[in-house]
Amino acid sequence: MIEKIVDIAKRIEEEIIQNRRTLHQMPELGLDLPKTTAFVREQLTQMGYDVADCGPGGLVVVAGQGEKTFLLRADMDALPGEELADVPYRSQTENAHLCGHDMHTAQLLGAARILKEIEAELPGRVKLMFQPAEETVEGAKSMIEHGLLENPKVDAAFAMHVMSTLERGTVDYTRGVASAAMDTFFIEIKGKATHGSMPDKGVDPLQIAAHLYLMITSLAAREASMFDNIVCTIGEMGGGTAPNIVPDTAVLRGTIRSFDKAVRDRFVERINALVENVPMSFAAKGEIKWIPTPSIVNDDGVVDVAEKALAEVFSAENVINTGTPLTGSEDFSYVAARVPAMFVMVGTGGPDEYPVHNPNVVFDESNLAKSAAGLVAVAVSWLQGEAPAAQ
Ligand SMILES: [Zn+2]
Ligand SMILES: [Zn+2]
Repeated sequence: MIEKIVDIAKRIEEEIIQNRRTLHQMPELGLDLPKTTAFVREQLTQMGYDVADCGPGGLVVVAGQGEKTFLLRADMDALPGEELADVPYRSQTENAHLCGHDMHTAQLLGAARILKEIEAELPGRVKLMFQPAEETVEGAKSMIEHGLLENPKVDAAFAMHVMSTLERGTVDYTRGVASAAMDTFFIEIKGKATHGSMPDKGVDPLQIAAHLYLMITSLAAREASMFDNIVCTIGEMGGGTAPNIVPDTAVLRGTIRSFDKAVRDRFVERINALVENVPMSFAAKGEIKWIPTPSIVNDDGVVDVAEKALAEVFSAENVINTGTPLTGSEDFSYVAARVPAMFVMVGTGGPDEYPVHNPNVVFDESNLAKSAAGLVAVAVSWLQGEAPAAQ
């Protein structure tokens, strides 16, 4: 079966690359993907699928029949900012596909095409998830809230992410924790505005922000052990409108990344305590909001099946168990928290290439068809393992 899947993928390679280039030229953001979803919907409809909406910017189709359902996921959103790479299919908007989600969408469309050709032989159902807003970590959550994992009920799931700094044609994965947990925080300090010449008449939130900045970023230096693996970054900070006005409010926005839930919980608690107590000691008030994104935890059962299937498509020496998780985060973790799942990285470049999210990044397309075949091979292999014994 896998041989047949690979053959079909080779035959439709040109179509997958063309779809990718079309998507690359019309990048859209977040949950608002009107052109992208119109294109994907049209392609899927032409293939003979019934396309269902699943929340804003989300699309779902199902191939095959049977008891069990395996989910394959692609994200479709881009990033704001100009593309600087000199490619003939450059972005035609003020946004850019710098994370390669156009690759993911095109390869899942390729998988859809392959699945249609082998639909009668499928030992179960394959559900395809085309998701919006991965970059803002809203998309997977929204689709789950809109019934993604029901009707038919999803039993296991798989996703791939391209990586420009990984050797082309290789697949990297790990067992267990596969990506960092990301906890984004938004702090507001409420002081009291006054004239710049009369600081004693107000409460300066910028000064409190400066103290808080140092205290929060010092936590990882002084309260984390060498084994805690935690990073804390404040990437946005400020307030005020003029040199001679002490403003009312100041903000700090940042993120912590971690792999261990106990470490993560301890830091969240410590940052909350600082935000409550430091402003209070200056007669101001601090408030904090968190957007949590958990780690992806790869399921051993899915990994056992997928590593064999991927080895048949990419060849065994190219499928590498690195034993180390991604330091980045992924909202596929919301799916992986609910059903057994696996997330892998596919190399589309090499160590000297620009990294994802860099405006110069280029993704090598030569393994797009293989990736489409890999997605289908994992789904089919998992379903074969679950199907009732052959008659
Ligand atoms: Zn990204
Ligand atoms: Zn991404």
